[in-house]
Amino acid sequence: MKKPVIAIDGYSSTGKSSISKIIADKLGLIHMDTGALYRGVTWFALQNCMNTEGVIDLKTLFSSLDQIHLEFKNNDGTLVLYLNNADISKEIRTNEVSDNVSLVAKQKEVRDYLLQSQRSIAEKGGVIMDGRDIGTVVLPDADYKFFLTASIDERTNRRFLELKGLGIEADKEQVKQNLIERDKIDSEREIAPLKQADDATVIDNSALTKEETIELILSYIQKI
Ligand code: C5P
Repeated sequence: MKKPVIAIDGYSSTGKSSISKIIADKLGLIHMDTGALYRGVTWFALQNCMNTEGVIDLKTLFSSLDQIHLEFKNNDGTLVLYLNNADISKEIRTNEVSDNVSLVAKQKEVRDYLLQSQRSIAEKGGVIMDGRDIGTVVLPDADYKFFLTASIDERTNRRFLELKGLGIEADKEQVKQNLIERDKIDSEREIAPLKQADDATVIDNSALTKEETIELILSYIQKI
């Protein structure tokens, strides 16, 4: 039997990636955190494509895209992102990357560059992919689609705790502003904006724990 293809989209810090990872383990699926790819490209740009004013030069980035080789490697059950063979799993969570990623992700050149590798991973089935445009653009024929949302204060708390856990300094108000700003750019961009697919199941998990959200998603998958 072909294993399912599951698309999880939604707002920043709704738990998409950590929830997808656990569901992947439970159902024996491959998990792909597509946000990490956009963060990886952004990290590369911050290292290699800055102009004299200290801002990412998009033209330089576009002409350097073929030098960016991103790969997930399995490190004791945790998928770790490598950029040109260097582990960048911690770097992609820094505030610097969070502050720049939505600008990078709204560029057509960048999205086109990352699209094919995302699609080819899902070809054989058995995948859970999380992001912003998975159910609408990357995998419109996914077997199951979910769209996660939660209140801004709850999402701020979650992100703040995640950063703290990673040992990254953070200010709660700044975290909140970054989430609001990213959601705005992600929702309003021209190409593949963040929005729920017409056939997605919407889950507001403001008052749900991670485990409860997982149970809810699994109940839909097992029901059909
Ligand atoms: O999921 P995460 O918060 O790590 O994603 C970081 C950013 O990457 C998002 O704010 C968005 O700008 C971009 N992204 C995207 N499309 C995806 C996944 C992420 O544009 N499928």
